[in-house]
Amino acid sequence: MARIAILLNDRCHPKECQWECQAYCPPVRMGQECIVEGPIGKPVISETLCIGCGICVHKCPFDAIKILNTPEADPSEVVHRYGYNGFRMYRLPIPPTGGITGVLGPNGTGKSTALRILAGREVPNLGDYAAPGEWSKVVEHFRGTALRAHFERIAKGQLRTVLKPQYVDHLSDEPLSTLDYVAAGGPGAAAALEDVGLASRSDRRLSELSGGELQLAAIARTLATDADLYLVDEPSSYLDIVHRLKVARLLRRLGASKSVLVVEHDLALFDYLADTAHLIYGEPAAFGVISHPLPMRSAINTYLTGYLKDENVRFRADAIRFVAHPPKPAARSNPLVEFAPLEKSFAGFHLAVGGGSLARGQTVGIVGPNGTGKTTFVRMLAGAEPPTKGRPPPGVTVSYKPQYLKASTPASLRERANALANDPTFDAKLFERDLLPALHLEEVQDVALPDLSGGELQRAGVALTLARTVTLYLLDEPSAYLDADERMSMARLIRRQVERQAVSALVVDHDVYFLDLACDELMVFAQDAPDGTRGRGDGPFSMREGMNRLLADVNITFRRDPETLRPRVNREGSVLDREQRGRREYYYDAPA
Ligand code: ADP
Ligand code: ADP
Repeated sequence: MARIAILLNDRCHPKECQWECQAYCPPVRMGQECIVEGPIGKPVISETLCIGCGICVHKCPFDAIKILNTPEADPSEVVHRYGYNGFRMYRLPIPPTGGITGVLGPNGTGKSTALRILAGREVPNLGDYAAPGEWSKVVEHFRGTALRAHFERIAKGQLRTVLKPQYVDHLSDEPLSTLDYVAAGGPGAAAALEDVGLASRSDRRLSELSGGELQLAAIARTLATDADLYLVDEPSSYLDIVHRLKVARLLRRLGASKSVLVVEHDLALFDYLADTAHLIYGEPAAFGVISHPLPMRSAINTYLTGYLKDENVRFRADAIRFVAHPPKPAARSNPLVEFAPLEKSFAGFHLAVGGGSLARGQTVGIVGPNGTGKTTFVRMLAGAEPPTKGRPPPGVTVSYKPQYLKASTPASLRERANALANDPTFDAKLFERDLLPALHLEEVQDVALPDLSGGELQRAGVALTLARTVTLYLLDEPSAYLDADERMSMARLIRRQVERQAVSALVVDHDVYFLDLACDELMVFAQDAPDGTRGRGDGPFSMREGMNRLLADVNITFRRDPETLRPRVNREGSVLDREQRGRREYYYDAPA
């Protein structure tokens, strides 16, 4: 066991508190220098003098301290450390020589750091945070391992790497046209733009592109670059199912002749994309340990069971389970919500949604490509967008989480919840007792909302939405910014909440594993005109029919993993793929 003391620098505000961490620390009160003021005026916590009592963790008004007793990996395996009380990373993923390797792990456990190091953008300090890293030391550190040759080539400037960054939304600040941005990668720009389906947007400025289009531009630039190693950080963010699969196919094509390392949280995509994978376990913002590489099937199965046998580490208390059969169709006799056909016309876009009904306790997914009107439909039901034809169901109360969350005031989640105390629809008990712990929000509830990470803000938004007692929850892309673990637990939480309260939910999402775990039925949205000017929504359908409608359009079939019953994308043209297409069973490969 090793003791790790972490100070979350951005949350620590030493001028705005009474230094409670130091004032209440038992060793300090005994005269020991366990917590002292460091060079930048913030506390430094001695890991050797700390007794692990956790008092500072509770007393800090900004939740800026973590103290962990951890079965840490061997200290000699530290590759990088951000300061004395900072995050530390153990080991590195091994870039493949040809083919695609994946990296799967919780947010805040060092994936982006690892990619930057392997790309040669950041020299790892091998734990010696006081001195700048040196490539010669790194080469020496990895002597006798597969990474030595990699860093030798990096040190000599002989390895050409390209890194697709995680945060593509920042690209919109660059004053460039899409073509100029992609062409900076290399001469293959025009072909790459064609491949990702962005050729018609070549002349647009980056600032005019949607999130999904920025992602496609970043991927096009990566594909256009001639490199030895391609590092791709979260290629699926902002993309719909159709584009996720398209990008996966392009990356697989790249991996046929090049080496690719990819970080991804959409498990169906991750499974399809890579051949081998490293899992990461650890504690967000504190430490991350990179596992040895595993073949893809066993990597994801291991991940779902929560136990890494090779290293005898349990990283989740319980396993994530799937079921092979579609959920039973809901009784239609006594629907909770019935909606009539709705239409909406904007300049240049028309949406028509057929009428349908939702049963008590039922969670219905909304799937389909971007730009087909999913958000518009949900906004009409939420009362945020008046329909051009038809009207939202009368008497149905709704609680709505929009697609894009913005923290406009510096209030914390606790302050937001307190402000709702007199709202009769807000169930404070449910919020505090069930939702905060289930979404792991307790330790961030006093942090100002604008200081939360994207994933934390998403979980906070979902908690506030589900805490209302209403007939219908409307959740627009709740899996965005979440890591795979958070997605799976949120899917189960939404389902459980809706069943327990005997209400209904509509959930727009693109992650197949998330939808599989959360939903009973599906509404399917599609383009109703080839030029994208008309959208159409239908359903709810059974999961089988909904998935068949969606996947037939994308031309992809799934089988079930025999061990975990999770869905797996079939290789195109494989026997199963051809056979399932013939039977028109794209998702459940045997009748239930
Ligand atoms: P991931 O990609 O898995 O979300 P990152 O590699 O971005 O993780 O970061 C891991 C942790 O390292 C973060 O939680 C943060 O606390 C810390 N960290 C990242 N970059 C820095 C930095 N430049 N300085 C100090 N700490 C950092
Ligand atoms: P999805 O959620 O399926 O991506 P949206 O409902 O967001 O689809 O958008 C569907 C279409 O409606 C898009 O072409 C979008 O540009 C258009 N649209 C959405 N809101 C507005 C609006 N307020 N004014 C004009 N056009 C809009």
